[in-house]
Amino acid sequence: MLKDNHGRTINYLRLAVTDRCNLRCFYCMPEEGNNWLAREELLSYEEMLRLCRLLVKMGIEKIRITGGEPFVRKDIMPFLTELSQIPGLRQLNITTNGVLTAPLVPELKKIGIRSVNLSLDTLDRNRFLAITHRDELDKVLHTLDVLLQHDIEVKLNAVVMEGKNIEDIIPMAELTRDLPVSMRFIEEMPFNGGSHLQTMQWNHVSILDTIKAQFPDIQKLPDPAYSTSMNYKVPGHKGDIGIIAAYTRSFCGTCNRIRITPQGTLKTCLYDGGVLNIKTLLRTHKDDRIVEDALLNALASRALDGHEAEQTRLAGGIHESMAMIGG
Ligand code: SAM
Ligand code: SF4
Repeated sequence: MLKDNHGRTINYLRLAVTDRCNLRCFYCMPEEGNNWLAREELLSYEEMLRLCRLLVKMGIEKIRITGGEPFVRKDIMPFLTELSQIPGLRQLNITTNGVLTAPLVPELKKIGIRSVNLSLDTLDRNRFLAITHRDELDKVLHTLDVLLQHDIEVKLNAVVMEGKNIEDIIPMAELTRDLPVSMRFIEEMPFNGGSHLQTMQWNHVSILDTIKAQFPDIQKLPDPAYSTSMNYKVPGHKGDIGIIAAYTRSFCGTCNRIRITPQGTLKTCLYDGGVLNIKTLLRTHKDDRIVEDALLNALASRALDGHEAEQTRLAGGIHESMAMIGG
Protein backbone atom coordinates (compact mmCIF):
# COMPACT_ATOMS: atom_id res chain seq x y z
CA MET A 1 0.00 0.00 0.00
CA LEU A 2 1.30 3.44 -0.94
CA LYS A 3 1.45 5.93 1.97
CA ASP A 4 2.64 9.52 2.25
CA ASN A 5 4.73 11.02 5.03
CA HIS A 6 1.56 11.82 7.00
CA GLY A 7 0.34 8.20 6.90
CA ARG A 8 -2.35 8.88 4.29
CA THR A 9 -3.08 6.09 1.82
CA ILE A 10 -2.46 7.05 -1.81
CA ASN A 11 -4.55 4.91 -4.14
CA TYR A 12 -6.02 7.39 -6.63
CA LEU A 13 -4.39 9.00 -9.68
CA ARG A 14 -5.89 11.85 -11.68
CA LEU A 15 -4.24 11.83 -15.08
CA ALA A 16 -4.70 14.89 -17.30
CA VAL A 17 -4.13 13.75 -20.88
CA THR A 18 -4.28 17.12 -22.63
CA ASP A 19 -4.37 20.83 -21.81
CA ARG A 20 -6.59 21.55 -24.83
CA CYS A 21 -10.31 22.02 -24.71
CA ASN A 22 -13.30 22.71 -26.93
CA LEU A 23 -14.89 24.98 -24.30
CA ARG A 24 -13.47 28.07 -22.64
CA CYS A 25 -15.01 27.99 -19.18
CA PHE A 26 -14.56 31.37 -17.56
CA TYR A 27 -13.38 29.85 -14.25
CA CYS A 28 -10.79 27.63 -15.98
CA MET A 29 -9.11 29.55 -18.79
CA PRO A 30 -9.23 32.81 -20.75
CA GLU A 31 -11.31 32.87 -23.91
CA GLU A 32 -8.26 33.71 -26.03
CA GLY A 33 -4.48 33.70 -25.82
CA ASN A 34 -4.02 30.20 -24.37
CA ASN A 35 -0.55 28.82 -25.05
CA TRP A 36 -1.26 25.17 -25.81
CA LEU A 37 1.47 22.63 -25.20
CA ALA A 38 3.26 21.27 -28.26
CA ARG A 39 2.74 17.55 -28.90
CA GLU A 40 6.29 16.61 -27.78
CA GLU A 41 5.73 18.41 -24.50
CA LEU A 42 2.82 16.09 -23.69
CA LEU A 43 3.34 12.65 -22.24
CA SER A 44 2.80 10.17 -25.07
CA TYR A 45 0.24 7.38 -24.68
CA GLU A 46 3.10 4.89 -24.32
CA GLU A 47 4.65 6.98 -21.54
CA MET A 48 1.33 7.28 -19.74
CA LEU A 49 0.73 3.54 -19.98
CA ARG A 50 4.20 2.77 -18.61
CA LEU A 51 3.65 5.20 -15.76
CA CYS A 52 0.17 3.90 -14.95
CA ARG A 53 1.33 0.27 -14.95
CA LEU A 54 4.07 1.22 -12.52
CA LEU A 55 1.76 3.24 -10.29
CA VAL A 56 -0.81 0.43 -10.17
CA LYS A 57 1.96 -1.95 -9.10
CA MET A 58 2.87 0.56 -6.38
CA GLY A 59 -0.70 0.77 -5.01
CA ILE A 60 -2.86 2.97 -7.23
CA GLU A 61 -6.30 1.34 -7.59
CA LYS A 62 -8.32 4.04 -9.29
CA ILE A 63 -7.43 6.30 -12.23
CA ARG A 64 -9.50 9.24 -13.42
CA ILE A 65 -8.79 10.56 -16.91
CA THR A 66 -9.20 14.30 -17.16
CA GLY A 67 -7.66 17.30 -18.90
CA GLY A 68 -8.34 19.78 -20.64
CA GLU A 69 -11.04 17.85 -22.39
CA PRO A 70 -9.92 14.20 -22.69
CA PHE A 71 -11.96 13.55 -25.84
CA VAL A 72 -10.22 16.24 -27.90
CA ARG A 73 -6.98 14.23 -27.77
CA LYS A 74 -6.62 12.13 -30.90
CA ASP A 75 -6.84 8.34 -30.49
CA ILE A 76 -7.96 8.51 -26.87
CA MET A 77 -10.23 5.44 -27.14
CA PRO A 78 -7.47 2.87 -27.91
CA PHE A 79 -5.48 4.39 -25.04
CA LEU A 80 -8.42 4.06 -22.63
CA THR A 81 -8.94 0.48 -23.76
CA GLU A 82 -5.32 -0.44 -22.96
CA LEU A 83 -5.47 1.41 -19.68
CA SER A 84 -8.62 -0.44 -18.66
CA GLN A 85 -6.77 -3.73 -19.06
CA ILE A 86 -3.98 -3.00 -16.57
CA PRO A 87 -4.06 -5.85 -14.04
CA GLY A 88 -4.84 -4.58 -10.54
CA LEU A 89 -6.60 -1.40 -11.67
CA ARG A 90 -10.01 -1.48 -10.01
CA GLN A 91 -11.63 1.62 -11.43
CA LEU A 92 -11.12 3.77 -14.50
CA ASN A 93 -13.26 6.90 -14.53
CA ILE A 94 -13.49 9.99 -16.70
CA THR A 95 -14.20 13.67 -16.22
CA THR A 96 -15.59 15.32 -19.35
CA ASN A 97 -17.43 18.41 -20.46
CA GLY A 98 -19.77 16.17 -22.47
CA VAL A 99 -19.53 17.96 -25.82
CA LEU A 100 -18.00 15.05 -27.78
CA THR A 101 -18.86 12.26 -25.35
CA ALA A 102 -22.32 10.94 -26.23
CA PRO A 103 -21.38 8.82 -29.29
CA LEU A 104 -18.53 7.22 -27.32
CA VAL A 105 -20.63 6.11 -24.35
CA PRO A 106 -21.38 2.57 -25.62
CA GLU A 107 -17.66 1.96 -26.11
CA LEU A 108 -16.84 3.48 -22.72
CA LYS A 109 -19.34 1.13 -21.16
CA LYS A 110 -17.81 -1.80 -23.04
CA ILE A 111 -14.32 -1.17 -21.69
CA GLY A 112 -15.66 -1.01 -18.14
CA ILE A 113 -16.07 2.69 -17.35
CA ARG A 114 -18.68 2.74 -14.60
CA SER A 115 -18.61 6.35 -13.49
CA VAL A 116 -18.34 9.64 -15.36
CA ASN A 117 -18.09 13.15 -13.95
CA LEU A 118 -19.88 15.53 -16.28
CA SER A 119 -19.34 19.27 -15.92
CA LEU A 120 -22.61 21.18 -16.01
CA ASP A 121 -22.70 24.64 -14.49
CA THR A 122 -26.13 25.75 -15.67
CA LEU A 123 -29.31 24.51 -17.32
CA ASP A 124 -29.80 27.77 -19.20
CA ARG A 125 -28.50 28.10 -22.75
CA ASN A 126 -27.52 31.77 -22.45
CA ARG A 127 -25.77 31.31 -19.15
CA PHE A 128 -23.97 28.25 -20.56
CA LEU A 129 -22.74 30.41 -23.43
CA ALA A 130 -21.65 33.17 -21.04
CA ILE A 131 -19.73 30.70 -18.83
CA THR A 132 -18.16 28.45 -21.48
CA HIS A 133 -18.07 30.84 -24.46
CA ARG A 134 -19.54 28.06 -26.61
CA ASP A 135 -23.17 27.24 -27.48
CA GLU A 136 -23.01 23.53 -26.63
CA LEU A 137 -25.52 22.97 -23.80
CA ASP A 138 -27.71 20.64 -25.91
CA LYS A 139 -24.81 18.25 -26.53
CA VAL A 140 -23.94 18.14 -22.83
CA LEU A 141 -27.54 17.39 -21.85
CA HIS A 142 -27.69 14.70 -24.53
CA THR A 143 -24.54 13.12 -23.06
CA LEU A 144 -26.23 13.11 -19.65
CA ASP A 145 -29.21 11.22 -21.13
CA VAL A 146 -27.02 8.69 -22.91
CA LEU A 147 -24.87 8.04 -19.83
CA LEU A 148 -27.98 7.36 -17.75
CA GLN A 149 -29.46 5.13 -20.47
CA HIS A 150 -26.26 3.07 -20.27
CA ASP A 151 -26.45 2.81 -16.46
CA ILE A 152 -23.23 4.70 -15.98
CA GLU A 153 -23.01 6.47 -12.63
CA VAL A 154 -23.04 10.23 -13.21
CA LYS A 155 -21.70 12.97 -11.01
CA LEU A 156 -22.60 16.42 -12.27
CA ASN A 157 -20.07 19.10 -11.37
CA ALA A 158 -21.07 22.75 -11.11
CA VAL A 159 -18.66 25.50 -10.08
CA VAL A 160 -20.71 28.08 -8.16
CA MET A 161 -19.99 31.67 -9.19
CA GLU A 162 -21.59 34.95 -8.28
CA GLY A 163 -23.08 36.67 -11.33
CA LYS A 164 -22.82 33.49 -13.45
CA ASN A 165 -25.03 30.65 -12.22
CA ILE A 166 -26.45 31.36 -8.78
CA GLU A 167 -29.99 31.14 -10.18
CA ASP A 168 -29.16 27.56 -11.25
CA ILE A 169 -28.40 26.20 -7.77
CA ILE A 170 -31.98 25.24 -6.97
CA PRO A 171 -32.97 23.98 -10.46
CA MET A 172 -29.85 21.82 -10.50
CA ALA A 173 -30.51 20.51 -6.99
CA GLU A 174 -34.05 19.77 -8.29
CA LEU A 175 -32.53 17.46 -10.93
CA THR A 176 -31.93 14.94 -8.16
CA ARG A 177 -35.71 14.56 -7.71
CA ASP A 178 -36.09 12.38 -10.83
CA LEU A 179 -32.53 11.59 -11.90
CA PRO A 180 -30.22 9.14 -10.10
CA VAL A 181 -27.26 11.56 -10.23
CA SER A 182 -24.95 13.16 -7.70
CA MET A 183 -25.27 16.90 -8.19
CA ARG A 184 -22.07 18.42 -6.83
CA PHE A 185 -21.57 22.10 -6.17
CA ILE A 186 -17.92 23.17 -6.12
CA GLU A 187 -16.28 26.25 -4.63
CA GLU A 188 -14.44 28.19 -7.28
CA MET A 189 -10.64 27.88 -7.10
CA PRO A 190 -8.15 30.42 -8.43
CA PHE A 191 -6.86 28.23 -11.32
CA ASN A 192 -8.27 30.20 -14.24
CA GLY A 193 -5.16 31.00 -16.28
CA GLY A 194 -5.60 34.70 -15.56
CA SER A 195 -9.12 34.99 -17.00
CA HIS A 196 -10.29 37.03 -13.98
CA LEU A 197 -9.65 37.69 -10.32
CA GLN A 198 -11.40 34.98 -8.31
CA THR A 199 -13.38 36.69 -5.56
CA MET A 200 -14.80 33.65 -3.77
CA GLN A 201 -18.16 35.09 -2.86
CA TRP A 202 -19.71 31.62 -2.54
CA ASN A 203 -18.35 28.99 -0.22
CA HIS A 204 -19.61 25.63 0.99
CA VAL A 205 -21.57 27.27 3.81
CA SER A 206 -23.48 29.73 1.62
CA ILE A 207 -24.13 27.01 -0.98
CA LEU A 208 -25.57 24.69 1.66
CA ASP A 209 -27.64 27.48 3.22
CA THR A 210 -29.17 28.27 -0.19
CA ILE A 211 -30.08 24.63 -0.78
CA LYS A 212 -31.43 24.19 2.77
CA ALA A 213 -33.68 27.22 2.38
CA GLN A 214 -35.42 25.42 -0.48
CA PHE A 215 -35.23 21.90 0.94
CA PRO A 216 -35.44 22.31 4.74
CA ASP A 217 -35.72 18.55 5.32
CA ILE A 218 -32.47 17.76 3.47
CA GLN A 219 -30.52 15.04 5.25
CA LYS A 220 -26.79 14.60 5.71
CA LEU A 221 -25.49 11.34 4.28
CA PRO A 222 -22.43 9.55 5.64
CA ASP A 223 -19.45 10.55 3.48
CA PRO A 224 -17.66 7.63 1.80
CA ALA A 225 -13.97 7.08 2.59
CA TYR A 226 -11.74 9.70 0.89
CA SER A 227 -14.78 11.72 -0.19
CA THR A 228 -14.05 15.34 -1.10
CA SER A 229 -17.75 16.16 -1.07
CA MET A 230 -20.05 16.61 1.91
CA ASN A 231 -23.10 14.64 0.87
CA TYR A 232 -26.81 15.22 1.34
CA LYS A 233 -30.12 13.89 0.16
CA VAL A 234 -33.56 15.35 -0.10
CA PRO A 235 -35.91 12.61 1.18
CA GLY A 236 -37.72 10.98 -1.73
CA HIS A 237 -35.27 12.23 -4.37
CA LYS A 238 -33.55 9.62 -6.56
CA GLY A 239 -30.20 11.40 -6.60
CA ASP A 240 -28.08 13.14 -4.00
CA ILE A 241 -26.31 16.44 -3.55
CA GLY A 242 -22.63 17.01 -2.80
CA ILE A 243 -20.81 20.17 -1.80
CA ILE A 244 -17.06 20.38 -2.39
CA ALA A 245 -15.09 22.86 -0.30
CA ALA A 246 -12.34 22.98 -2.90
CA TYR A 247 -11.07 26.42 -1.95
CA THR A 248 -11.69 26.14 1.79
CA ARG A 249 -9.79 22.83 1.68
CA SER A 250 -11.45 21.05 4.57
CA PHE A 251 -10.85 17.52 3.27
CA CYS A 252 -7.04 17.36 3.04
CA GLY A 253 -6.73 15.10 6.10
CA THR A 254 -7.93 12.08 4.13
CA CYS A 255 -6.59 13.03 0.69
CA ASN A 256 -5.73 9.85 -1.23
CA ARG A 257 -4.91 11.37 -4.62
CA ILE A 258 -2.00 12.42 -6.76
CA ARG A 259 -2.10 14.20 -10.09
CA ILE A 260 -0.10 13.98 -13.27
CA THR A 261 -0.34 17.03 -15.52
CA PRO A 262 -0.45 16.83 -19.33
CA GLN A 263 3.25 17.73 -19.52
CA GLY A 264 4.16 14.97 -17.10
CA THR A 265 4.61 16.79 -13.80
CA LEU A 266 3.62 15.10 -10.56
CA LYS A 267 1.50 17.12 -8.17
CA THR A 268 1.00 15.61 -4.73
CA CYS A 269 -1.51 18.40 -3.98
CA LEU A 270 -3.73 20.37 -6.33
CA TYR A 271 -2.33 23.57 -4.82
CA ASP A 272 1.40 22.78 -5.17
CA GLY A 273 3.33 24.03 -8.17
CA GLY A 274 4.44 20.53 -9.26
CA VAL A 275 6.92 18.45 -7.27
CA LEU A 276 8.55 16.09 -9.80
CA ASN A 277 9.29 16.14 -13.53
CA ILE A 278 8.26 12.60 -14.41
CA LYS A 279 8.45 13.14 -18.16
CA THR A 280 12.22 13.69 -18.03
CA LEU A 281 12.63 10.68 -15.75
CA LEU A 282 10.63 8.46 -18.11
CA ARG A 283 12.54 9.72 -21.13
CA THR A 284 16.01 9.30 -19.60
CA HIS A 285 15.61 6.05 -17.65
CA LYS A 286 14.46 2.73 -19.04
CA ASP A 287 14.62 1.24 -15.55
CA ASP A 288 11.28 1.64 -13.75
CA ARG A 289 12.97 1.33 -10.36
CA ILE A 290 14.50 4.77 -10.80
CA VAL A 291 11.08 6.26 -11.57
CA GLU A 292 9.58 4.38 -8.64
CA ASP A 293 12.22 5.68 -6.21
CA ALA A 294 11.61 9.25 -7.36
CA LEU A 295 7.86 8.85 -6.90
CA LEU A 296 8.34 7.41 -3.40
CA ASN A 297 10.66 10.28 -2.53
CA ALA A 298 8.06 12.81 -3.63
CA LEU A 299 5.41 11.14 -1.49
CA ALA A 300 7.78 11.21 1.48
CA SER A 301 7.69 15.00 1.54
CA ARG A 302 4.06 15.67 0.72
CA ALA A 303 2.50 18.84 2.10
CA LEU A 304 0.12 18.38 5.02
CA ASP A 305 -2.69 20.27 3.30
CA GLY A 306 -3.54 22.58 0.44
CA HIS A 307 -2.57 25.68 2.40
CA GLU A 308 0.92 24.36 3.10
CA ALA A 309 1.22 23.20 -0.52
CA GLU A 310 0.28 26.64 -1.80
CA GLN A 311 3.05 28.17 0.30
CA THR A 312 5.65 25.95 -1.42
CA ARG A 313 4.93 27.67 -4.74
CA LEU A 314 7.41 30.14 -6.07
CA ALA A 315 6.60 33.77 -5.32
CA GLY A 316 3.97 35.12 -7.66
CA GLY A 317 1.19 32.71 -6.74
CA ILE A 318 -1.20 30.82 -8.95
CA HIS A 319 -1.31 31.53 -12.68
CA GLU A 320 -2.14 28.27 -14.36
CA SER A 321 -5.41 27.09 -15.83
CA MET A 322 -7.22 24.13 -14.28
CA ALA A 323 -6.86 22.54 -17.73
CA MET A 324 -3.14 22.13 -16.89
CA ILE A 325 -4.06 20.30 -13.69
CA GLY A 326 -7.19 18.30 -14.40
CA GLY A 327 -9.38 19.47 -11.52
N1 SAM B 1 -12.85 19.30 -19.45
C1 SAM B 1 -13.32 18.39 -18.49
C2 SAM B 1 -14.47 18.97 -17.72
O1 SAM B 1 -14.66 20.17 -17.76
O2 SAM B 1 -15.16 18.20 -17.06
C3 SAM B 1 -12.25 17.89 -17.54
C4 SAM B 1 -11.24 18.88 -17.06
S1 SAM B 1 -11.87 20.13 -15.99
C5 SAM B 1 -10.41 21.07 -15.65
C6 SAM B 1 -12.14 19.21 -14.51
C7 SAM B 1 -13.04 19.86 -13.50
O3 SAM B 1 -12.40 21.01 -12.98
C8 SAM B 1 -14.38 20.33 -14.05
O4 SAM B 1 -15.42 19.73 -13.31
C9 SAM B 1 -14.37 21.81 -13.82
O5 SAM B 1 -15.63 22.30 -13.48
C10 SAM B 1 -13.39 21.96 -12.68
N2 SAM B 1 -12.77 23.29 -12.61
C11 SAM B 1 -12.11 23.92 -13.59
N3 SAM B 1 -11.68 25.13 -13.18
C12 SAM B 1 -12.08 25.26 -11.90
C13 SAM B 1 -11.95 26.28 -10.92
N4 SAM B 1 -11.30 27.42 -11.18
N5 SAM B 1 -12.50 26.08 -9.70
C14 SAM B 1 -13.17 24.93 -9.43
N6 SAM B 1 -13.32 23.93 -10.31
C15 SAM B 1 -12.78 24.08 -11.53
FE1 SF4 C 1 -12.48 22.90 -20.74
FE2 SF4 C 1 -13.09 21.54 -18.57
FE3 SF4 C 1 -11.64 23.81 -18.39
FE4 SF4 C 1 -14.20 23.94 -19.10
S1 SF4 C 1 -13.39 23.21 -17.12
S2 SF4 C 1 -12.50 25.01 -20.13
S3 SF4 C 1 -14.50 22.11 -20.23
S4 SF4 C 1 -11.02 21.94 -19.31
